[in-house]
Amino acid sequence: MSTQKNITVVGAGLVGSLVSIYLAKRGYKVQIFERRDDMRKANYVAGRSINLALSDRGWRGLEGVGIDDEIRKIAIPMYGRSIHMKDGTSTYQQYGKDNQAIYSVSRGGINMRLIDLAEQNPNITINFDERCEKLDRNDNVITFFNPKLNKTTHIKSDYIFGSDGAFSAVRSQMQFQSDRFDYQQFYIDCGYKELTIPAGKNGEHVIEKNALHIWPRGSFMMIALPNMDGSFTCTLFFQMEGKVSFDALKTKEEVLKFFTEEFPDTIAMMPTLLDDYFNNPTSSLVTVKCKPWVWDDRIALIGDAAHAIVPFYGQGMNCGFEDCVVLNELMEKHGELNAHCLKEYETLRKPDGDAIADLAIANFIEMRDKTADKTFLLQKKIEANFSSKHPDKWIPLYSMVTYTPSIRYSEALRDGNKQQAIMDKIMTMPNIEAKWDSEEVVKEILNLL
Ligand SMILES: Cc1cc2nc3c(=O)[nH]c(=O)nc-3n(C[C@H](O)[C@H](O)[C@H](O)COP(=O)(O)OP(=O)(O)OC[C@H]3O[C@@H](n4cnc5c(N)ncnc54)[C@H](O)[C@@H]3O)c2cc1C
Repeated sequence: MSTQKNITVVGAGLVGSLVSIYLAKRGYKVQIFERRDDMRKANYVAGRSINLALSDRGWRGLEGVGIDDEIRKIAIPMYGRSIHMKDGTSTYQQYGKDNQAIYSVSRGGINMRLIDLAEQNPNITINFDERCEKLDRNDNVITFFNPKLNKTTHIKSDYIFGSDGAFSAVRSQMQFQSDRFDYQQFYIDCGYKELTIPAGKNGEHVIEKNALHIWPRGSFMMIALPNMDGSFTCTLFFQMEGKVSFDALKTKEEVLKFFTEEFPDTIAMMPTLLDDYFNNPTSSLVTVKCKPWVWDDRIALIGDAAHAIVPFYGQGMNCGFEDCVVLNELMEKHGELNAHCLKEYETLRKPDGDAIADLAIANFIEMRDKTADKTFLLQKKIEANFSSKHPDKWIPLYSMVTYTPSIRYSEALRDGNKQQAIMDKIMTMPNIEAKWDSEEVVKEILNLL
């Protein structure tokens, strides 16, 4: 452990705050620079995604700094998906085994707690209203600008972590000062808008509290995650442009007609629908892949800055927290933060970042389209049946990604593809609807494995 080395972390979001705590616990002096004002005093209102699904990889990240128990107190377990059809009926699909859940947590709540914890560590200083403007590669100096003070500061450090999110300034400095920086960014045709289902009269949840609710409608969908105050944050994922799209819904009448036709059961539950719809922003969804993540053995990208993904596997934050866990393990292995540690961090995490990006896109199709599809549901039943009989041979893809941090995302993607190829064959077995749980089907899967 070295107490001399000092580290600059750009961004006090979820990942920047967490990685700073891990670094400071190892004795490094950490300075965090955050573009925004301190969210704890700024009467914080999350502009995007008010709640998030936290799962096992994320919990591991929080456990490592000892705040998992505290976050559990403000986390609501969701044990399965509740699927709402157009005709008002709903079905429930359990996610994993009986006690397995993903947890709805407040984005602001968890971020503020991480900032509190960072601030309590004597090795960390946090500077708010400081925007990263420039990175001088040769000297390892970052230039920050504080618009409130109209002041520019130059900070030199031994190591720099860019945890400044999907539109990272650190990453773009790397991109424009490198000869061979791979960069890929693509938007999906859907964007999103947050809406609300308020609590009932007595503060109760008006639909099942311990579920993630989905209204799948083919090319678009709405989801809802529970909040501690009895409300739900709904997110409408919808085409940005076209005949049926955000762009096409211009008036209150059009929005009401659309919801009445597509999500009739929600109308009575969403009294502020029209205000929410027209007051809340429509945001786009981007995937970013890049390489290298580590520059000159001392500047590293982490979290969304390295791998921005679409939210359909609920893994963006979880993946970023896992970056911190892996980095921490490597610091342990190498005895300190050094070039070898960062090299191995990149070698391990880059394929996993790419894999979860691809899995997240695939899960969009699954959520919006297939969760209401009979063949898909049958396939899931067959997989669950086989997995319960041979848990050592088959962990369903969702469970690998969500509940099994010992399996890397890249391994989950690879094994998930193999499983799908097997299931494609199984689903063509004659009369599969009737014999889906038979010994014959189990034997055939064993054969194909
Ligand atoms: C609609 C939606 C739903 C989501 N749902 C989930 C979910 O259920 N589960 C999940 O795990 N993930 C989810 N995610 C993903 C998750 O929000 C991100 O992966 C996570 O926020 C990444 O954390 P981060 O710290 O890397 O980046 P961010 O949270 O974006 O934080 C970056 C920080 O850097 C600061 N910053 C930016 N530029 C600069 C600069 N130039 N100088 C200084 N500071 C700067 C920003 O102000 C910010 O504080 C969702 C995302 C969206 C959009």
